[in-house]
Amino acid sequence: MILGKCNYCRRPIYYVLDRLEGAHGKCKRTHKTGVKKIVEKMRNFAEFGGDLQKLKSEIKAIARSSYIKDKDVGKHVFKGWESSASTMLSQGVPSKPVEKNLRDLLDLTTLPKKKLRKSEAYSNFQHLPFLRNVGAGRYPSSVANASGVNFNLVHSEKLICVFTRVAYYEQIDSQLLESHDKIVRRGLGTDSYRLKYNETFKEIDMGAMGFSTEHIYFVGRIRRFRIPYTRIALFNRDSFGISLVQDGQYPLPQQFRLEDTWFAYNLILILTRQ
Ligand SMILES: [Zn+2]
Repeated sequence: MILGKCNYCRRPIYYVLDRLEGAHGKCKRTHKTGVKKIVEKMRNFAEFGGDLQKLKSEIKAIARSSYIKDKDVGKHVFKGWESSASTMLSQGVPSKPVEKNLRDLLDLTTLPKKKLRKSEAYSNFQHLPFLRNVGAGRYPSSVANASGVNFNLVHSEKLICVFTRVAYYEQIDSQLLESHDKIVRRGLGTDSYRLKYNETFKEIDMGAMGFSTEHIYFVGRIRRFRIPYTRIALFNRDSFGISLVQDGQYPLPQQFRLEDTWFAYNLILILTRQ
């Protein structure tokens, strides 16, 4: 008895298990392996470069033998690009040849710009020329500053970049957190374990964050300060934002939560080295 048609090879399905999957097990595996091969080819090109036209025809051949529809090739190619770019960019600003390889690979993706811009890897990639210029000491002559804040720059200092709507957090010290924890538990009788872990950082303010050649500025409604790059002892980035610790006797981490975390983190990385 025929139970349907395979999504990949379009031939009849005879087994219930295949029917549930909508495809022959073998066809599904062939498809999966093909997608994986395309991603691997792209990653390899991103790292080592090669002949773009050759890669293009290789991808075409893989697609044809792996039941990848013509209209879906662009989607898988972009997945391969994203995976390559994310890996390369996670290590900071990549070398110039790698950047060129990634730019060449972008030509293979046929997705519209609107779709590309939704990708985090793509938007990070667009920041590379700017970061490279800053790294080489070439600063922008005018800075887009939508915050309306006039940063009080010292002479010879240059503004490089301004982020708006940055949430500023401070780490509550553990002693305080304990007592807060107890009060909540006694007063409301609620289980406060979740609160104890979630509130290690407390939102203090929201404002504009400016990067200059010498300082990081934060200007909010209640907090205004600047931190010289030379005073930054530690900094890192996570899914929330950028945390940093200043030199000092009892320094508590400060955290800045913003959209373009990768870009801001690499700016700090470059500027603290200058
Ligand atoms: Zn099949």
